[in-house]
Amino acid sequence: MVQLISADQYGVIGDPISHSQSPSIHKLFAQQLGHSIDYKAYHVSENQLESFIYEFRKKGGRGLNITLPHKTTALKYVDIINPRAKEADAINTLIIDEEKIIGDNTDGIGLINDLEINFNQSLKNKRILILGAGGATLGILSPLLKREPKNILVANRTASKAKIVTSKFKSNFSLDACGINELDSEQIFDIIINATSIGITKQSINFPSFIITENTVCYDLSYSYEPTLFMRWSVENKAKLAIQGWGMLIEQAAASYCLWRDKKPNTSSILKQLNINASSQVLRRL
Ligand code: NAP
Repeated sequence: MVQLISADQYGVIGDPISHSQSPSIHKLFAQQLGHSIDYKAYHVSENQLESFIYEFRKKGGRGLNITLPHKTTALKYVDIINPRAKEADAINTLIIDEEKIIGDNTDGIGLINDLEINFNQSLKNKRILILGAGGATLGILSPLLKREPKNILVANRTASKAKIVTSKFKSNFSLDACGINELDSEQIFDIIINATSIGITKQSINFPSFIITENTVCYDLSYSYEPTLFMRWSVENKAKLAIQGWGMLIEQAAASYCLWRDKKPNTSSILKQLNINASSQVLRRL
């Protein structure tokens, strides 16, 4: 008699979640590697987080991605925190078995791989501005600092939050924090990373345009089938190049997949398979 073995269960949890492209990406990875997996997006609010994670494990779930706004809160429900998640104080991946839940963070490696490998942007000695101080910023700060930029400034709408985030790396003299409204027109940035959630919540841009010069490369962690508002605003204000976060999304997903199944998917064809038009992923100043 043929025994039916159900596919391993994975998923992504967040609030909101309808924008998530992770199910399509993981499906493509599984097809590429000939694996049988089931990966779904779940809308999980803060008060459902604990029960959802334990229930998912009880039903045999093997791994979860964690997206906004749960990247820090979810730390409470893991047994082991891998070093890069500990440095970030935030997780985007849970590796689950009957005995333990391990938390990790692949956001940083996702961004670095996209900038360095896919876009050939060196980070060494660069002056970097990060807008936003939420879960994504926590994940990318330590990997960015390891690339030895000249300095990193984290500017957040709520200045106190930027200071809390950067205080975790107190000994690093090249790191500073301020409010977005405290940005100074004398400061020059080679790379500006939008790590606010304005792309998801469809809010308007409230950043001062003087942060951009004609040599600035802008990177929006948000992603969309069209150029994002931040990308358009960046090139309208004469940025050299504006990139959106599809590459980071795919690279962080591949790193999570590898943690779960010990096989690294090839990411080079995924953008095309998702029907993402290269001209909407990147805008260049005319
Ligand atoms: P989060 O923890 O909810 O943080 C949101 C951040 O946005 C906070 O710093 C918040 O500032 C700021 N913010 C919200 N509305 C704002 C406004 N109107 N003006 C200025 N700042 C505003 O979210 P997250 O997890 O860090 O995610 C941030 C973004 O990164 C999301 O769009 C997410 O989809 C994206 N992301 C993409 C990838 C990828 O792979 N491409 C990976 C991770 C995250 P306050 O502190 O003042 O509230």
